[in-house]
Parts: sequence; structure tokens; C-alpha cells
Amino acid sequence: HELRTPLTVFKGYIETLLSKDDEHLEIWRKALEEMNRQAERMTRLVEELLLLSRLESENTVRNSKAIEPSQLINQAHRKAVQLNQSESPLISLELDDTLRIYGSEEELYIVFSNIIMNAVRYTNARNGVILIKWERSPEGKLEFKVKDNGIGIAAEHLSRVTERFYRVDDSRERAVDDKFSSTGLGLALVKHIVQKHGGKLEIESELGKGSTFKVAFPENRHL
Ligand code: ADP
Repeated sequence: HELRTPLTVFKGYIETLLSKDDEHLEIWRKALEEMNRQAERMTRLVEELLLLSRLESENTVRNSKAIEPSQLINQAHRKAVQLNQSESPLISLELDDTLRIYGSEEELYIVFSNIIMNAVRYTNARNGVILIKWERSPEGKLEFKVKDNGIGIAAEHLSRVTERFYRVDDSRERAVDDKFSSTGLGLALVKHIVQKHGGKLEIESELGKGSTFKVAFPENRHL
């Protein structure tokens, strides 16, 4: 709350100023819009940092219940396409809607949506192809998998991308920042949530070729 309240006040004033039809304000429009964007970004950062610290301080998964990942994945996919106003890469979904697990709907949505958003964000729209799967692996594990043929991650960065605020290369992030305003906390959150659910996050990637993100859930989470 200490962090949220000042931001809410700040955003409220900016929004009021932006909605005013006052010619004196016109010269400030660009600045106000930028302030608005940065305030949004700060709000997301605060929300994500709060969630991260909550995840670190709690041992159990809050609000666990039976969930249908295929629905959450569909929802995250729609949102990613919608946020990406320009062209999106070609995305195909193979979701087994009979496979359910026990977990936190709110947290698992964050896992699915961050991985999907990243795939869209780091894959070229023109010749990009993304495959999203929710399936039972040959070993019997329930797995969420997202494979893209995007920019990929070099081996030396691969083990570090789940660290908070870790960025492979500032320039490539900045170039795409405007579209989704990334915070650099996405994969740190993903890793924590997956661990909390007793699952495992695996990332395979090759620079210039693409990446595969895989989340496997243990049997005691299957329904
Ligand atoms: P960000 O908000 O910067 O995307 P994340 O924690 O979600 O932060 O990801 C960390 C970094 O990992 C990103 O900055 C990006 O360089 C890299 N990354 C994540 N997903 C992908 C992907 N699908 N393809 C290529 N690079 C990726």
C-alpha cells in the first residue's frame, strides 16, 4: 500500500489532465502521455515486486484448486495477440482440455502468459512460428510447452534469464519495449511460481534459431 497509493494519486492527476479539452494543455500532451506510460510501468513493477516477495516468503501455494490449464492458456494467448497490435507471428495451439491440475489459477496464469508474451515479443512477426502445447509427456508428466523460432538466447545468458531484472541485451529489449512494456521480472516470477507448485522449468535455446520453454508439473498436482 505504501507504494501503491502515491502512484494511484499520480496516475489519477495525469489521466484527468489528459482528458481535459484545454488548448493550454496541448503542448504538454506528449509529456503527459509519456508520464502516463511510465506510471503504468511503475505500477506493474510494484505489483510484480510485491508478488515476488510474497512468493519468496510463503511456503505453500495460496488458493489452490482444480484448474483447467487449457482455458488459461487460451486466455493468455488471446491477450498476447491483442496486446501485440501489429502483426503477430503464426501461432498454433495444441491443448488437451481433459488434463487438469491442482494449483493457483492466478499464479499459473502469470506463468502461461509470461512465457507466451515473451515468445511473441522475441519472435519476428513476418516469418515467426510459435507452437503452444499442453499435453501429457511420454513419461506421464503434464507439460506446458512453448516453442518459437525467434531471436533465441546465447548459451552464456541462458542460465541467468530467470534472475530478476536480468536482460540479455538492453538494445533488443528497448526496441520492443513499447509494445508490451516489459519489466524484466517475468521469468523470475515464472521460476518461483513453478517451483512453488513443485514443477520444473526448462529452457532450451539457440541464438538466432529460437527457444523452447517447458514447464512440467509433478504427479501430485495432476487431477
Ligand atoms: P523481460 O520483461 O525483459 O522480457 P523476462 O524475465 O520475461 O524479462 O525475460 C528475461 C530475458 O530473457 C528477456 O529480456 C529476453 O532477453 C530473454 N527471453 C525471454 N524469453 C525469450 C524468448 N522466447 N526468446 C528470446 N529471448 C527471450
